[in-house]
Amino acid sequence: LAERLQGTINKIKGKGKVNEQDVKEMMREVRFALIEADVNLKVVKTFIKKVSERAVGQDVMKSLTPGQQVIKIVKDELTNLMGGEQSPIKFATKPPTVIMMVGLQGAGKTTTTGKLANVLRKKYNRKPLLVAADVYRPAAVQQLQTLGKQLSLPVFALGTDISPVEIVRQALEKAKEEHHDVVLVDTAGRLHIDENLMQELKDIRGLKEPDEVFLVVDAMTGQDAVNVAESFNEAVGITGVILTKLDGDTRGGAALSIRSVTEKPIKFVGMGEKMDALEQFHPERMASRILGMGDVMTLIEKAQATVDEDKARELEEKFKTQSFTLDDFLDQMSQVKKLGPLDEILKMLPGANKIKGLENAKIDDKQIGHIEAIILSMTPAEKTNPEIINASRRKRIAKGSGSSVQEVNRLIKQFDDMKKMMKQMTGMAQKGKKKMKLP
Ligand code: GDP
Ligand code: MG
Repeated sequence: LAERLQGTINKIKGKGKVNEQDVKEMMREVRFALIEADVNLKVVKTFIKKVSERAVGQDVMKSLTPGQQVIKIVKDELTNLMGGEQSPIKFATKPPTVIMMVGLQGAGKTTTTGKLANVLRKKYNRKPLLVAADVYRPAAVQQLQTLGKQLSLPVFALGTDISPVEIVRQALEKAKEEHHDVVLVDTAGRLHIDENLMQELKDIRGLKEPDEVFLVVDAMTGQDAVNVAESFNEAVGITGVILTKLDGDTRGGAALSIRSVTEKPIKFVGMGEKMDALEQFHPERMASRILGMGDVMTLIEKAQATVDEDKARELEEKFKTQSFTLDDFLDQMSQVKKLGPLDEILKMLPGANKIKGLENAKIDDKQIGHIEAIILSMTPAEKTNPEIINASRRKRIAKGSGSSVQEVNRLIKQFDDMKKMMKQMTGMAQKGKKKMKLP
């Protein structure tokens, strides 16, 4: 998406205003991005509708950078939709806290039970007891026991001929005796949702109301995730979601779908098979990931914070009337400087990592400093009318600014090129809605 969306943004960048048609065009790109990220269609529709309404509103129309403003709205709404930041775990006022892990087979329940126990001990200073309540999958008990050993945490298990409900009942007693303040129950999954499983989960639930029921979902499941989440939520009732396997190349659209269908928060994300690969969920990061925007938002926010809007408007006016002088050029340069080192800015652009030779293209502050010095060495007449800068003037400017004649030549040429480009752009804009090719 990033590139296509960026293309659309570029197209309307030069405009002072956007109209409904522009917004529509951008929404098409956003819709495409969401579908590509495997977000549920119904969810996409509702979302686009909501964002469109906001985007044709006043703020955007008046904004200097309407395209970016629209994207900001898209991202904000996505972030809102996935819930703000919040405490990831609700603990019981009277221990032990009971956390139940549910989900389909292979989603990552057992692995995540280990990871979560690790987080509970390390970050929350708790003393968890892991309970092996999956008696169906061969070696499921062993799997949890191995993880327990690896983490040096106790695992409660009985024979596979004992019912999961009985196992959990006894585990709760043991937790009390041994003063475990958290009980983590790893339950069985099925390849598909089935009645028996749901009944069993309900029975376990009935023993002692769990403080959290976490649905573990494989992020790669995409569209299906919605049905899974809906079924588990209806049958068992969930309090939160843990999205696993986000270390893969999925864009994570499942996060958005699950959240909007169940209205249950995503609490953690699994980022690998290792026991330390569980992270707290950050809606904002997820929004960027779903949109496939890399760090483009950071760039946009930076630009909004530093570029003086009035100045830019003034410049735009000068572009149009072609009264743009070297003084303005200098002004623009210092605006860019405020953004930070240019090569850093370039790196944030999507697709920039694909541009060959970017790592060698170090444009540093020194270079901008040189340009500044050259322009400052010019007389007001020269700055307004660079045509008059002949060979002897060039020599004088070079000397005055401590640079070479070649450098002065290069700058004047750059300025010339820029003016030519502006002339073309404004010419086109006046001719109507002709498509223009931007660099
Ligand atoms: P369960 O059937 O729900 O208990 O799933 P398991 O915990 O046995 O996990 C199934 C597979 O997924 C195992 O091979 C795990 O190592 C793997 N897995 C679980 N979570 C993650 C994750 O966040 N990233 C990756 N790459 N693999 C994971
Ligand atoms: Mg398991």
